[in-house]
Amino acid sequence: MSITLSGHAAAPGVGIGTAVLYRTDRLTFEQAAVTAPLDAALEWERYCAAQRLVDDELARLAHGKPALVAELYAAHRAILQDQTLATSIHSAIDEGSSAAAATFQVVSDVAHAMGALDDSYFAGRSADVLDIGQRLLVHLGAAPGRARLDMLPADTILIADDLSPSDVVQLEPGKVLGIALAGGTPTAHSAILARSLGIPLVCGLGARVLTIAPRSPCIVDGDRATFVLEPDAITLRRARAAQQSLVEERAQAARHAHLRATTRDGVYVPVLANANSPEDVFAAAAAGAEGIGLLRTEFLFQERALPPSLDEQVDTYSRFIRQLREQEGGAMQLTVRALDAGGDKPLRFFPHPPEDNPFLGLRGVRLLLDEPEILRTQYRALQIAVRDHGGAQWGAAALEARFLLPMVTTVEEVRFVRLLLANLHEADMPRIKLGVMVEVPSAALITQQLTSYADFFSIGTNDLAQYTLASDRTHRQVGVLADPLHPAVLRLIEMTCRAARAARKPVTLCGELAGDPSATRLLLGLGVQELSVPVPAVALIKAAVRRGTLEECTLLAAEALTCPDAAAVRVLLQ
Ligand code: PEP
Ligand code: MG
Repeated sequence: MSITLSGHAAAPGVGIGTAVLYRTDRLTFEQAAVTAPLDAALEWERYCAAQRLVDDELARLAHGKPALVAELYAAHRAILQDQTLATSIHSAIDEGSSAAAATFQVVSDVAHAMGALDDSYFAGRSADVLDIGQRLLVHLGAAPGRARLDMLPADTILIADDLSPSDVVQLEPGKVLGIALAGGTPTAHSAILARSLGIPLVCGLGARVLTIAPRSPCIVDGDRATFVLEPDAITLRRARAAQQSLVEERAQAARHAHLRATTRDGVYVPVLANANSPEDVFAAAAAGAEGIGLLRTEFLFQERALPPSLDEQVDTYSRFIRQLREQEGGAMQLTVRALDAGGDKPLRFFPHPPEDNPFLGLRGVRLLLDEPEILRTQYRALQIAVRDHGGAQWGAAALEARFLLPMVTTVEEVRFVRLLLANLHEADMPRIKLGVMVEVPSAALITQQLTSYADFFSIGTNDLAQYTLASDRTHRQVGVLADPLHPAVLRLIEMTCRAARAARKPVTLCGELAGDPSATRLLLGLGVQELSVPVPAVALIKAAVRRGTLEECTLLAAEALTCPDAAAVRVLLQ
């Protein structure tokens, strides 16, 4: 009999497949009966052999993978080689444990200690330590292989308590047809990555989802926010029909993906892509995007011991510019967001001091002002890449390169950034347009004052919702309160657009809400001029733009602003 669980919709689409359970919170260890007295030297040799095998395995896995995934494996190899870990295992073996039991005990203890640390970076890394431990136990013959995210079987519906962004980047969308999470929230970065990979995701399903027997047939419906276990024939037929109509809708939208999107009364709305990785940049133009409206540059900085050098960054931005210039019709905007670390995006090379409220702490532009060389190097790299490709304006049909500051709260911050960048404007260097992300209510409320220092604005509804509604976007219980359709958030969007328009400054909306076709007309009605969306949503959003007139959109927005809550706005949009 089929069982349906309800959660929160986090990435659209319907996935039908078989369950693969992925537990990152503990090691699976089968203690074999010890029949003979242990020889410590032999056990240590066994450990060293397993360590070599795991190292080879990680090197093989990293080979030919996208940079972010390869760096993740490099970080895992560094953990594997860690001297303190090896010394503790050696001591446990000397005290009489088998290689497997010593590995199990030491790795479990280290992971537990890291998880309990008051530092979000190390707390997040305890899953990596467990991953290494599990690989060692497999080679020591003491554990079944844990489901490996980079090698999942075809037709997988991945079931987990939660996934980190570094887990999600390893998934192959052709094999992973859906994700069902006991915890998680729709605007956490792992959900954002799932959307950009086009994998349906439902989160907040509760612990019940983790009790499912592996290989059970199941359905993830990322539109209806449901997870169905052991679906009966009727449910399966309905899911297949929903899947088919989605395929048809996407195919229909894709036919016009490369045409500009104008409303029925002729208002042109540029639709750009959000890129979280080099792969997204390369996929964006093929999907019909008119450039990159938000390049999240965190992928350049994560999982490494040192920040990327100037040359490395010049090389990366140059590759992206070349890629965009090669597109027919010239998809020519490239908006590079300055590093947005902190909150749920900790950095290994930056020793983040423990913070009680990381989302209210040293994040975004605050961290950049604290570490100005990161900011200056990033801006300089973009300047050089742009200069080497012919300047900030690239021909008649072209748009431009832009530099975007995350998490701006005050006018002071933007003025300081301008001061920090001022001496980088030598005669031979292009001046890159400087924009402000509006993702904190204060920035929305003082947009008019910010227009003196910002060349453009980009509204980040993921954070704007969390800060407006005082709900941590990653919190399992209250995260869903951070709903960008709440009228309070809509009001701030409308105010931002009104103030920016009065000063003739363009406004993009790049939060995940921009990628929801049911919200497109509302956003245009609130005054948003450009949309930057996950790559798989580009064609659907263009189709949604074409469905309405600006007048209809304005009426819809006026009504939404009077709604009591997000649920009422949703009803209106349907
Ligand atoms: C946002 O907050 O809406 C945004 C686009 O930034 P990020 O999701 O990367 O924090
Ligand atoms: Mg943000």
